[in-house]
Amino acid sequence: MEKPVAPPQPPKVLVVDDEKQNRDLLAELLRNDCRVILAKNGIQAIERAHELHPDLILLDVMMPDMNGHQVIQALKHDDATRQIPVIFISALDSPEDEEHGLDLGAVDYITKPFHPSIVRKRVRNHLQSVHHRHLLENLAKIDSLTEIANRRRYDEALESEWRRCARNNSPLSLIIIDVDHFKAYNDRLGHAAGDMILRTIAIALKGFMRRPGDLAARYGGEEFVLLLPQVDARAASHIAGDIRAAVEQMQLAHPASPVSPYVTISLGGMTTQPYDGQVDPQFFRDADAALYAAKAQGRNRVVWQTTAG
Ligand SMILES: [Mg+2]
Repeated sequence: MEKPVAPPQPPKVLVVDDEKQNRDLLAELLRNDCRVILAKNGIQAIERAHELHPDLILLDVMMPDMNGHQVIQALKHDDATRQIPVIFISALDSPEDEEHGLDLGAVDYITKPFHPSIVRKRVRNHLQSVHHRHLLENLAKIDSLTEIANRRRYDEALESEWRRCARNNSPLSLIIIDVDHFKAYNDRLGHAAGDMILRTIAIALKGFMRRPGDLAARYGGEEFVLLLPQVDARAASHIAGDIRAAVEQMQLAHPASPVSPYVTISLGGMTTQPYDGQVDPQFFRDADAALYAAKAQGRNRVVWQTTAG
């Protein structure tokens, strides 16, 4: 399974309360189940939610300056924090208060004075739901055949790495890979054998992803993409060359290939300097053009696009 998309462990719970006694009590109560982060007012709560991406927030309603209702509204209006489930903990215990809290988007409402064991169990239940949601989200981003990232995960990674490289003024490299004469392979040896080839190549590609931002994905059919943030053209084309050689050296028999007795791949690459704003679709087109050139020149080779456009 893809390691980079796994949810962080242990879960983080942000406890927001203006009274120190309550913060201490809740922190003590929850410390065996999660990492507890504390905030003593609304502003601090929003800052910490942004910075630390907690899995769950326990939010006091009555606080000076910014109350819990205002805090949850701010969190729900922000793309970066709207997914984080919020549980209100409040001394306001009428059904109307509870209904209002749930209307604002809270997943649960606990009244003060609370029973420690109930708080603990409810928090556990909600963390369990969060964990399941993460698992499902991650499964939706994994290619079921090869168990590496799928195109959807690649699209997301491209967007975030594009922004990150633009911010850091660092290069972004992309390699597109196509298995040579794969249709002929399937026609000769059957789809089960073809699937095995795709899995074997996916495992090989994963072995070349050595830094945290590196991503290998199955783009579709027999096409793979590698995203290499903060890797310049020289280093990235070197990696592409190593991958080409590694696949050839596995010596997987390909009786239907006019290129080689073994399974080989063609690779097209492109390096760009991302700038602020949306991903430039020309980036992929340039790498794809390089792949096309690699195939046109006889396959089993790397072509690197040196200039944009
Ligand atoms: Mg309070």
